[in-house]
Amino acid sequence: MSRVYNFSAGPAVLPEAVLQEAADEMLDYQGTGMSVMEMSHRSESFQQILDTAEADLRELMNIPENYKVLFLQGGASLQFAMIPMNLMKNRTADFILTGQWSKKAWKEAGKYGKANVIASSEDRTFSYIPDCSDLPVSKDADYVYICENNTIYGTKFKELPNTKGKTLVADVSSCFLSEPVDVSKYGIIFAGAQKNMAPAGLTVAIVREDLADHELPCTPLMMNYKTMIDKDSMYNTPPCWCIYMLGLTLDWVEEQGGVAGMEKLRDLRSSMLYDTLDNSKLFKCHAEKGSRSGMNVTFRTGNEELDAKFVSEATAAGFVNLKGHRKVGGMRASIYNAMPVEGVEKLCDFIKEFDKNNG
Ligand SMILES: *Cc1c(COP(=O)(O)O)cnc(C)c1O
Repeated sequence: MSRVYNFSAGPAVLPEAVLQEAADEMLDYQGTGMSVMEMSHRSESFQQILDTAEADLRELMNIPENYKVLFLQGGASLQFAMIPMNLMKNRTADFILTGQWSKKAWKEAGKYGKANVIASSEDRTFSYIPDCSDLPVSKDADYVYICENNTIYGTKFKELPNTKGKTLVADVSSCFLSEPVDVSKYGIIFAGAQKNMAPAGLTVAIVREDLADHELPCTPLMMNYKTMIDKDSMYNTPPCWCIYMLGLTLDWVEEQGGVAGMEKLRDLRSSMLYDTLDNSKLFKCHAEKGSRSGMNVTFRTGNEELDAKFVSEATAAGFVNLKGHRKVGGMRASIYNAMPVEGVEKLCDFIKEFDKNNG
């Protein structure tokens, strides 16, 4: 067996211990004689898997009582429609555009009501987070929407926007469980699992209870938060295998010191990488200082041929999936929770060597 250092933006690296445990339990889950994949979602064993995953997530994130944890399908992208359908009572919402994902959410919301852009960083290719301390928040806005960590551009909100009392909704797909957060500052937090939690196919949404049950009349049953709240995410068959894998990952996060432990590792990995890039002759980071993500690091040489050479030599050396998103070009190293510190150390050595040989 030979495992590479996988810098993919998603689906992404999972902790090796989690994969090993899943492998060990693959054919016979704890004496049931079957795989979790083969198990009825109404069985006692699966109910326990789901309940434990929820309880562990609640404990890790310190989720208040009045928030529901939902295990959904359709990816983070389905939330782009589900959120306006459930929250747009006044048919108005405000958006802060910091990249492709918030733009997609904004376009989708526009189908259900007035979707206002109250700030944007598109003028400089989404390389920064705008000042959100005093924005023209709409008086009748049902919510203010952000994408907290911008996977494609490599930026992150270091401070939450001042929503002037309006409900904050945040896409945290690529920074979930990477630092302690105060859940009570949000109305809804949601994340696709494939970046920092589990295999693709599961979306976790943490929804303040009072926000449900006000959906637009056109809302499909399956897209109504109330449906899923009333049935504890089991109105229909949930993504059982992904929920099981999430449970294993949550145990792993707990063993590493919880979200505070994840934050420490994040800062260690990302400062090492940014320092190496900032001190190089060849490489420039896309994200401006002060807005840089600790999960997705975007950089380039400014010469497309040299970028391609870097990616191909890195791949040959066992550092894979470093090609940047087509919107930004250059390179992107996604260094999620499960990326070993050693992987980043070795990548830094590789960058220094490449810089010396090509600078
Ligand atoms: C990957 C990603 C998405 C899209 O997730 P899907 O699960 O593929 O719909 C949305 N938002 C952010 C921030 C992402 O990183």
